Parts: sequence; structure tokens; C-alpha cells
Amino acid sequence: MDKEQKYCYVCGEKLTEKQCKDEGVVKYCGHCEEFRFPLYSSAVSMVIFNPKKDKILLIQQYGMKSNILVAGYINKGETPQQALQREIKEEVGLNAVEWNYNDSMYFDKTETLMHNFVVVVDSENLKIKENEVDTAQWFTVKEAVEYIRPNSMAKKFLLKSLKGRDVT
Ligand SMILES: [Zn+2]
Repeated sequence: MDKEQKYCYVCGEKLTEKQCKDEGVVKYCGHCEEFRFPLYSSAVSMVIFNPKKDKILLIQQYGMKSNILVAGYINKGETPQQALQREIKEEVGLNAVEWNYNDSMYFDKTETLMHNFVVVVDSENLKIKENEVDTAQWFTVKEAVEYIRPNSMAKKFLLKSLKGRDVT
């Protein structure tokens, strides 16, 4: 595996491997004399449907002119399911009423494990958080597939969530 950590994230020393009681062989820093477990972030992203389940919500963020899914990091102590409810409330002012796990992917660039859910919300009336979301808009399912950022992780999640559905 080329993704594993080679250096100690505290002191920078090259890591070795050592038997760790309950975990098997784990990366070890001889300088700090401590085990170094992998470090990465966890986040959620959501394919959000309106109550009638015929429209999907896409947003634009941070000045980027491409449509993506609502997403956010999972806080310490939070489950993905709690994070998705909080993020949807914070970013677009809606309440999630139903959610199902769709898929997960690892995003190398930010060392983030992304969990994607298909979510139904209670209303189409958006209240966007202005400093985080530039625009938020409901699209038909076909439009969402057409207008979501090409070649993105978001598009892969969206297509997976629509498997078996006619989107052509
Ligand atoms: Zn160290």
C-alpha cells in the first residue's frame, strides 16, 4: 500500500513497524516511542431529494461555477447520520427526514473518507448560508446528471444513487 504513512506526524522521524497488543503490526515512531495510527478526515456528502422525490438539490460554493452536492466534515464524536442532518440544516436550512447510505470513496487530495447518502428533505424552501453557499438550486433528475460537475466524485455518487432509474 503506497498510501500508508511513512513519517511520524509529530516529529518527522521515519516510522518503523511494531507489534501493538490488540491491533497487530502498527506503524511506530522510535523517537516518540509511540504508535502512529493512520490520520485522515471523514466527511459526508448528500444527494438531496425534495419531498416528492422528483428533484435534486445542487449547490455552488466558494466562488466556483460548478454544481456539486451539499457536503461537510464529520465532527469529532458525531456519526455520519448526525453530520448529514446538521450540514443540511446549516447550509440550506432544510430538515432531513429520510436517509440511506449510498457509497463511499476516498479523496486523496484532502485525505478524506467521504460517505455519501441519499436524503429526502421536508421542503423545497431553501434558506442558504450566505458565506458558505453561493447558490443552491433544485434540478430535475435528468438536469442534475447533466449539470453536476463533470468527472467529479459528486457525479459518481449521483450516478450510483440513480442506478436502475431512467436518466437519459
Ligand atoms: Zn515521532
